[in-house]
Amino acid sequence: MNSKIWLSSPHMGGNEQKYINEAFENNWVAPLGPNVDGFEKDLESFLNKDVKVAALSAGTAALHLALIECGVKQGDEVICQSMTFSASANPIAYCGAKPVFIDSEEDTWNMCPAALEEAIEDRISKGNKPKAIIVVHLYGMPAKMDEILRIAEKYNIPLIEDAAEALGSTYKGIACGTFGRFGVLSFNGNKIITTSGGGALVCHNQEDKDKAVFLSTQARDNAPHYQHSHIGYNYRMSNIVAGIGRGQMEVLNNRVEARRNMHNFYAELFKDIEGISVFSEPSQDYFSNHWLSAIIIDEKITGKNREDLRIALLEENIESRPLWKPMHLQPVFSGSPYYGTHVSEKLFENGLCLPSGSNLSDDDRTRIKNVILTFFNSKIFN
Ligand SMILES: *Cc1c(COP(=O)(O)O)cnc(C)c1O
Repeated sequence: MNSKIWLSSPHMGGNEQKYINEAFENNWVAPLGPNVDGFEKDLESFLNKDVKVAALSAGTAALHLALIECGVKQGDEVICQSMTFSASANPIAYCGAKPVFIDSEEDTWNMCPAALEEAIEDRISKGNKPKAIIVVHLYGMPAKMDEILRIAEKYNIPLIEDAAEALGSTYKGIACGTFGRFGVLSFNGNKIITTSGGGALVCHNQEDKDKAVFLSTQARDNAPHYQHSHIGYNYRMSNIVAGIGRGQMEVLNNRVEARRNMHNFYAELFKDIEGISVFSEPSQDYFSNHWLSAIIIDEKITGKNREDLRIALLEENIESRPLWKPMHLQPVFSGSPYYGTHVSEKLFENGLCLPSGSNLSDDDRTRIKNVILTFFNSKIFN
């Protein structure tokens, strides 16, 4: 059997262990220390704006703290893009709040601005003005930020950007994760860079960052004994984990380039196969890190569906995966309000994510290409 080709696997740069060793040598084996500070600084300068970053244990934790800092409480409503990973929506439930799901639009697969505005108007008319909006940059593709920001400002609702998949992506030259009141990053094992597990909250002032750090370290008041006047969390990033992050930041630009090359590989591969469209940037305004490359299969033209292709790839030990199943179709969120025209459902039914790792070899690409060409009944060439 050929070795497994993964959808997206960790790809170390080389210096990660150097930073970990430093932590051991100086006994900074704790959820604070020079690697945590250094990783935060690296992220701040990469995002290239006057942002303040708090390194945390997970992207999910960052979303939870963003909601708390936006004042989301029990019984509130929070608007969330429906087509996303469940981690975008779960923190709404952690707060005892209720999600209101918004459909995608076809250009970016992200939050549809028209459905967003319709939802806000309707929730307000029902006496429930949403407390926050969570927009996602799916697979690294920036959402329609001009339109979404305009709506968030018009109704004065704080915007939280789930940029867990979009580190290295930009919209009109500005880094994803820096548009909203808060931005969320993830360094889970399958993301464009990884710390094995971790996340960060992107803030726009020191006060917001300090509050995130305070809440993430059990909310200790300033006193010699342990004194608490808030509920706290254990969400801070470990100094060992942050060492991996510092090593990964040295190679982030290379990783973006490699993922974009995988996208170009698929664009070339599918160029002459009728009925397949490769998920691509709608215009020059959008720069995607192409964290995952994805396609839509038109079954009427190809006579085949995404599940057939997924199985054909799996038989050759190649991982692929359907697009995110929209949250309004998930049993756990059944009964939640949903606004849209079912674009995300069609994407889910016909879409497939293909191996996209920055560490794939020419041999891996040849294997992928042969399975795909055979599947679509084309000539095989090497
Ligand atoms: C990975 C991911 C998260 C969660 O990040 P973790 O670090 O795994 O907690 C949130 N939202 C999206 C869209 C993600 O892909």
